[in-house]
Amino acid sequence: MSESARKFVVGMILFLSAGAVVGWLYDEVVMGLLVAALIALAWQASRLLSFERALRTGNFEQFRVGEGIWEQIFSRFRFERERAVRRKKNYRMLLREIRKSTNAMPDGAVILDANNEIIACNRAAKELAGLKRKKDRGQRVDNILRDPELIRLLQSGDHKSTIEMMSPVRDGEWLDCRVVPYGGDQKLLLLRDVTERIRLSKMRRDFVANASHELRSPLTVINGYLDSLIDDESIPATWQKPVAQMRRQAARMRQILSEMLELSRLESAGAVKSDEPVDVPELLESCRQAFEGHSKVANVTIDAQSTAELRANKAEIETVIVNLLSNAIRYTPEDGEITMTWRSDGEGADLIVADTGEGIDPEYIPRLTERFFRVDKSRGRDDGGIGLGLAIVKHVLARHDAELVVTSESGHGSEFRCRFPAERVVVEPPVPLAGGA
Ligand code: ADP
Repeated sequence: MSESARKFVVGMILFLSAGAVVGWLYDEVVMGLLVAALIALAWQASRLLSFERALRTGNFEQFRVGEGIWEQIFSRFRFERERAVRRKKNYRMLLREIRKSTNAMPDGAVILDANNEIIACNRAAKELAGLKRKKDRGQRVDNILRDPELIRLLQSGDHKSTIEMMSPVRDGEWLDCRVVPYGGDQKLLLLRDVTERIRLSKMRRDFVANASHELRSPLTVINGYLDSLIDDESIPATWQKPVAQMRRQAARMRQILSEMLELSRLESAGAVKSDEPVDVPELLESCRQAFEGHSKVANVTIDAQSTAELRANKAEIETVIVNLLSNAIRYTPEDGEITMTWRSDGEGADLIVADTGEGIDPEYIPRLTERFFRVDKSRGRDDGGIGLGLAIVKHVLARHDAELVVTSESGHGSEFRCRFPAERVVVEPPVPLAGGA
């Protein structure tokens, strides 16, 4: 108990005792006690009302000095109030600093609630995406930024991926968007200007495409001359071997150029245009036949477990199969087995090319789809591998919302599985039973 509370209790006891003593003098102890209690109550009630008035008017003059309980209550109240004011001031300063620093950030940041409604955003979000701090507060961000990819990202709950979208307010500029969880069920939409990166990668793509295109014409001329030289019996015998080698290398250059062109075409092409139902087992069979008759080729079997069709660009899917099958053939010995499987389930379909060949060391698997990546660099030059095949496969699959899953064990073969989502799979309607209702 504090000193003032102790004084208050002692004073009350003394006052009530005095009342009892006066009552005793008149032979009315209880009455004396009661009168004293009433007087004490009236006094405290009047102090309480004065304090309430002081709270309303802010005039605490009568409570400023003194040792009584009410003066102590006022002193405590004043201390707490000043502390609250100090805290509020500090918080306001902190908030101002936070706002200043988020406004100085070059990246846009938008705080969203669980329904993707805007709670707050910084200045960069306004400049990059045209969001207005006050006007758009409480609006759903996907009603303002209507990019389908962004809408998909917001709905997916995927906090790792990023998407690129055109800036809705700056012509020709690109934004990289990412959603990260924030607070309880809030989210932070981060927007970054990546126009320069996109411009540079387009420049690189254009350069590769133009250079490959330009190199094709002179190479065709060289090829033509080499083709006629190889058949020319009048050339000296010492030249025959070099000419044959030149012809092989020229053919290889032609293959590199056409794969580079194919890759840049896939990179700059938009979404897949011609979506047709593709009979995958039939395509697997025609690709298998294309390799038939080649010497030293392992046995290739087709395991068609599903009759479902694939909604895709047939030529591009054929490119995928040819690349995977030619790799399987290249890296599997003659006595090995290659199996191409087509299967579907409720969640999608798999096109699998598996072999019992040399396999791949696990450390190299994540790098397989990099351009010009070859596990054994010295090998490719002789057997035609240049390291672009799987990069092309990856691009084609991405254009079909599919992904490539590679599993392999060094020395025990590999499996390349192309996983297509259910939206791309056309399952045949069940044939009605004869005579059925
Ligand atoms: P490449 O034209 O060299 O085959 P790819 O991009 O198709 O280029 O393949 C990249 C590398 O992945 C190859 O060089 C090879 O090392 C490895 N690879 C691909 N397929 C297989 C396979 N079926 N078995 C073993 N290694 C493979």
